[in-house]
This record gives sequence, C-alpha cells and structure tokens, in this order.
Amino acid sequence: MPEHCTAIINARIYCVDSQFRVLNPGTIIFEQGLITAVGPGESTVVPPGSRVIDGRNRLAVLPGLVDAHCHSSLLKGFSESAQLMDWLPEYQREHQALRAEDAYYACLVTYMEALRGGTTTLLDMYRFMHEGNRAADLLGLRVHLVPYAADNPGKAFFETLETTEQAIRDLDHCRGGRTRAWVGLEHITYCSEPMFRAARDLADRYGVPIHTHTSEQREEVAAVIDLFGERPVYKFRDWGILKPGSLLAHCVWLDEGELEVLADTGTGVAHCPVSNMKLASGPAPLAQFRQRGIPVALGTDGGVSNNAISMWESMKSASLLQKVTHLDATRIDAGEALRMATIEGARVLGVGREIGSLEPGKQADLITVDLWQPHLMPLAEAEGHDPVLWNLVFAGRASDVRDAWVQGEQLLAGGRFRRADENALLEEIHAATVAFLERRRGFAPIPMV
Ligand SMILES: [Zn+2]
Repeated sequence: MPEHCTAIINARIYCVDSQFRVLNPGTIIFEQGLITAVGPGESTVVPPGSRVIDGRNRLAVLPGLVDAHCHSSLLKGFSESAQLMDWLPEYQREHQALRAEDAYYACLVTYMEALRGGTTTLLDMYRFMHEGNRAADLLGLRVHLVPYAADNPGKAFFETLETTEQAIRDLDHCRGGRTRAWVGLEHITYCSEPMFRAARDLADRYGVPIHTHTSEQREEVAAVIDLFGERPVYKFRDWGILKPGSLLAHCVWLDEGELEVLADTGTGVAHCPVSNMKLASGPAPLAQFRQRGIPVALGTDGGVSNNAISMWESMKSASLLQKVTHLDATRIDAGEALRMATIEGARVLGVGREIGSLEPGKQADLITVDLWQPHLMPLAEAEGHDPVLWNLVFAGRASDVRDAWVQGEQLLAGGRFRRADENALLEEIHAATVAFLERRRGFAPIPMV
C-alpha cells in the first residue's frame, strides 16, 4: 500500500528527464504512489506532516533501475567457461529438472539480488510464471514475466502458448500493475514456424508484446542459416514477430539489412554487455542502433551467463565494451549509460510513461544511494563538472543502494527488505537449491539444434 507523503530533502537528485536535470541540493516529494514534486531544495515546499528523509548532501536519488532481460536461476556459477553453443545444452539440464517449487526459489533469489542492488523493474524470461509472480509479490518489485515457450521435438519441458495464455490472463496487470505478462519464445531453433505465427496471434489478442533472444553468437547465427537458409531477424519479420513494442535481446551479430528491419518495425533491443563478454559473444553495434533510432535498454541476462544481477555492472560494462571495441573513449558516457538503465529501459518495456525518470505525475519508483563512501568521493563539483555521476556509473555498486520504492511503497530501507526477512528466505533458498541439484543429476545436456 502506498505510504503517506514522503519527502527526500538535501539530496543529489538525478531526474533522468528530457533535460537530464541534476538537482543539488534537491527535494523530491511523493504521495499516494505518485511523484508530486521534484525541484531545487530552496524552492520546493514540503507539505506539513510529510515523512522527511534528510539526505544531508550525502544521498543520491535516482529512478529505480530497469533490467530489461534477465533469466532467473538457482544455479549461477554452474555453467562456466563455455560459449553459447556449449552453454545452452548444459543450461537445458536445469530446465529439464525444474519444477514449480524450484522456479519459485530461482525467481526469489534473483529478485532479491536485483532489488537489493536498486533494480525495481525486471523482465524475467523463465518458466512457471505464477511462481515468479509469487516471488515478486513477496518482495514488491515490478516484474515483466515472459514465459520461455518452445515446441520443437525434445523441448516439451518448456512452456507452451497455452500456459503462456493462462499466465497473461491471470497475471498481466495484477499487483496494481506491478506485474506484466508477455508472450515469450525460446531460441529460434527450439520453436516451429507455426508456433511463431501463433505467438503473434496470441500477443495481438491480448495486446501484449513479444520477446525473444537472438543473434547472440556467430555460431548461433550460422546454425540458423543452415536450418532456415536465412538470418534470424528476417525470419522473425516474415513470421510477424516484429512490430513496435517487440523486444529482442542481444542482437550482437546483425547484418545491415537486419538493422534496417529492426528500425522499420520499431523493435527494441535489450543489450546485455556483461553476458556478451562472459560468453565471448562479441560487442553489440550500439552506435548503429542509435543512428537508426532503434530503442536500446540494458539487461543482465541473468545469473547463469553473468553471475551478477547488477545494473551497476551492466551500466559500466556497456560503456567500457563500446570504448574498447572502437578504441574511442568518447563512446557511451555516464549519462547515456544511466539513461539506458532507467528511462530507455522503461520505454523499451512499454512503461516509459509511468516510470524511468523522476518527474511529477510519474509513479514513485526510485532509489537512494549512499554517496558517503570512499569509492564515491569526491562529492565536490568544480568548473561546472559533476564527478558524482561518473563515479556512480563507473564506481557504483549494488551494495551502495540504501532505499528503494515502487509506486511509493518502500521496499528496501537501509539495505534491508521491508516485506521479507532476508535471512529466513536464504535458508529456504539454500535448502531448495541442494534438493534441486540432486534432482538435476538425472538429466543429460541436450544439443542446441
Ligand atoms: Zn537471454
């Protein structure tokens, strides 16, 4: 339930609005779940009776971070030193063994890590989505739940379009709008053409977007060309998958024509820089996305291919990967990285009017960061230059996040969950993981194609 009027005063506020306003010292006020005022400290009046949090010039306030492509998992750290085509067969062992109760704990541990690090909205492509919704409800964060559906022989353990439809019916816009449910498809080689076409019909029937991941590694694209005689994005276009609101993760290896297709169809991209480096996928063509006006969000890709569900690492990595790829230190500055992790992420997820920036009328999804720490010094500006933004993006850590609100409800206070007892949950998660690993022993890897 939204709390009464809250004001954070004497804070360094990064609005991430169209002017990229930084208010220092600034005041932000929110009530009944909505931001009612954001402005300079001296001219923003705090209503009497408000709960006042004094940032003492040591707190930063940012929009809640948006992870636009994640996969929950209980088993991070178990599929290491493998590229995609070797990684995926091992990953499918997890999915063969997965039951609803395991999915609940996988979602729970993933969302706990995300929320602790300031991620207030997360797109989770996973299975047993009712369990994902239950886990999200325990903590309070926003989730876009996207079932992995697949229908090719040997993939029966994934979700179907029937279970997807049930998830959309039951979950889309529930929890006061904090849960959204989309249509999701596993890798193109896991699904039949009729399934792709039926997925479009289903998405249109319910007015929800379609999400999948593609063109992550060169070997994967080569396998798709072998199978279909064409590159994946052209197949998606032909099958009607791409339109405004559609979202593709990765898109590292696209040709010029595929980039044009994304631009022409209004398809967004979820860029996952840490995963792309860790699985040795390569650098996504961010500059080309930008030039063509293709919307780009950032994602972690989940614990199994990243290990950290941290948008701080993703922001920094997105910038560093472009700089080193192009040998150009001007690529992706701190502001651009922060925009991708907030407002652009929100837009790509179809909720840019509601969240992603700190502006009156928007929902109060925001975080505070404790700046009073050696690695975030200096807090002094000089000659019109703000070092704090750069240090937040390049030195900030998930553990620096102090508080988080969604729809004005405080979910994290001083780094602790408000709705749940972290230690008790970790005990449950640990026990569930041990049992799950035992069950997984009975399943062998399945080749990707
Ligand atoms: Zn993925």
